[in-house]
Amino acid sequence: MQIKRLKLAGFKSFVDPTELRIESGLTGIVGPNGCGKSNLLEALRWTMGESSPKSMRGGGMEDVIFAGTDARPARDFAEVSILAERDEGDRPDNETVALESEVEVVRRIERGAGSAYRVNGRDVRAKDVALLFADAATGAHSPALVSQGKIGAVVSAKPAERRQMLEEAAGIAGLHVRRKDAEQKLRATETNLSRLDDLLADMD
Ligand code: ATP
Repeated sequence: MQIKRLKLAGFKSFVDPTELRIESGLTGIVGPNGCGKSNLLEALRWTMGESSPKSMRGGGMEDVIFAGTDARPARDFAEVSILAERDEGDRPDNETVALESEVEVVRRIERGAGSAYRVNGRDVRAKDVALLFADAATGAHSPALVSQGKIGAVVSAKPAERRQMLEEAAGIAGLHVRRKDAEQKLRATETNLSRLDDLLADMD
């Protein structure tokens, strides 16, 4: 998967609509302290489905919305969009969210209303977005997104955590989610079957 464009509006310090085109090759973001470099990486992780406000350096998820300054009032919503080109291998056969190779993933949060996600204009669940990125070996917790303090966290990670990082890097994290779903469905079907047995026994 290659991320081609990032669009932000009302997200943290990016109050005005901002568009960043990411060309192929190496991209560097430079700027003085506090200009918003980390906020850009957080915007990527947030749109990929990050659900922990703490890892977005906030107390609650609404803290990602522009909080206002002396000169500008706070905003009521934040929206970030990622435009990405997927490789053939990033798209499993049973794709349900989007079949297209080019995907635009949008996450929007409104004060008091929570988050909503869209993929290529269609409303989807947070889980669908997480799976879409996991299948492309990336995502909100991908080891490819190295935020401040992350190197230390990798060094001191427990073996199970390190295994999780390797699985995310290998693009198989999505398989675990699908397996959990399938097991849940299996358990529900087993419960239904045993209920059916009870009903049949009553009819005898
Ligand atoms: P450094 O080089 O010091 O790590 P940086 O360029 O990575 O800095 P960030 O940490 O991304 O900068 O940005 C911090 C800025 O974002 C601060 O000025 C902070 O006030 C601003 N900011 C964070 N959240 C919000 C918000 N919800 N509303 C408005 N501004 C915000």
